[in-house]
Amino acid sequence: MNERNLLAEADRRALAYFDGTPERRVYPDAAAIAALAEFDRPLPENGRAAEQVLQQLDDIGSPATVASNGPRYFGFVIGATLPAAAAAERLVLAWDQCASSFDNSPVADRLEKVAGRWVCQALGLPSESAVGFGTSATACTLACLSAARRTLLARLGWDFDADGLMGAPEIRVVLSETAHITVKKALRVLGFGMNRLHYAPVDQHGRIDPARLPALDERTLLILQAGEVNTGEFDRFAELIPRAREADAWVHVDGAFGLWARASSSAQLAEGVEQADSWTTDGHKWLNTPYDSAMAICRDADALAAAMNSDAAYATASRDAQKNLTLEFSRRARGVAIWAALASLGRDGLRELIDRHIRQAGELAETLRGGGYQVLNRMVLNQVLVRGDTDEQTVAIREAAQASGEVWFGPTLWQGRPAFRLSLSSWRTGDAEVRLLADLLLRLKRQLG
Ligand SMILES: *Cc1c(COP(=O)(O)O)cnc(C)c1O
Repeated sequence: MNERNLLAEADRRALAYFDGTPERRVYPDAAAIAALAEFDRPLPENGRAAEQVLQQLDDIGSPATVASNGPRYFGFVIGATLPAAAAAERLVLAWDQCASSFDNSPVADRLEKVAGRWVCQALGLPSESAVGFGTSATACTLACLSAARRTLLARLGWDFDADGLMGAPEIRVVLSETAHITVKKALRVLGFGMNRLHYAPVDQHGRIDPARLPALDERTLLILQAGEVNTGEFDRFAELIPRAREADAWVHVDGAFGLWARASSSAQLAEGVEQADSWTTDGHKWLNTPYDSAMAICRDADALAAAMNSDAAYATASRDAQKNLTLEFSRRARGVAIWAALASLGRDGLRELIDRHIRQAGELAETLRGGGYQVLNRMVLNQVLVRGDTDEQTVAIREAAQASGEVWFGPTLWQGRPAFRLSLSSWRTGDAEVRLLADLLLRLKRQLG
């Protein structure tokens, strides 16, 4: 098979997979998972025809996928991929660009600059910010925190690039008790040390309690949160950030999914967040773009550009080239799908998307309460945190729902006891699917009571 026919065959299989998504089990069954053992072979001595490789991938791989791209996935805030973003992704794959700089790919450079501007406009963040399109909120947080540390140390007269961490003044990291695990991972990788972090106590909604905020000074890196993973709540930016600015601290905001509330009718949830120094957010969660697509946004564009610079004699580029704003050197043009998503939605479509999920989550919570469930969070965003009558019932209901293949959602612990977490984030999830989920949960509660 020549290359063109092979690609056509891949497209044919991809479309067949796509057509099956609405009916597909949301989580693969045991037989499909067991069949994955077929892949588990030694590295072959001799290669095979590419069409055979493709066929095996489809025959064994496709049935073992999680249909998070379908309408009945309520697990992590994952979203599906918007049609315009999926289509752009296919074209970008054909382009096969190394999107490190203008010299390597003029089209990627220009589109990612536009996408960065649009993201700041959609989220109401300062227009002078640098926007790096990295692989994940994890990687983008790492980039922002390294820019923060380098800048704080420079203000204290310490040259981090030249002298590193040995003997440097200590930077005090203050973060929420409910900070996301990947923020702690970024801190750990950057050498901050888990025992040296200062945790800010939270209120019953999981937001930092301003009255109990640890002291801030010019050596402080304060990390706040837009969208707590269980409750969807926001730290009180309008109160906390001015205090941090007063103290000359650096404020970073983890807004992996919650920052998109800024583009909705509920923008007041994140009031004041624009006063921070840096932000991370994902495209692959609530914006419904493909993996891996996240953004490191930094008000002081030079701070991010200096921390992430990777110019070499054979590869110099502008300060705002993507290779100088992210961890990657060679990289795919991941900002193009973000551009396509925003171009197809417009401000209106984006607002409607986020508004719809917030409304659906509120209605789902009401229905479940009416059916005897405990809803553990205030409904502010797209997360519904739910518990049955007993811990045993909570776990049994979740397991039965997962085994049904009709829907999927995951477990969590809330205040030390089991609960489950329903997230609304897919553009494909209509009111009919939310009703299907509610009916299933009400039925299981009666059966497993
Ligand atoms: C998902 C998530 C992250 C990590 O994002 P990745 O893109 O998966 O690295 C960080 N913070 C919050 C609040 C999240 O929900």
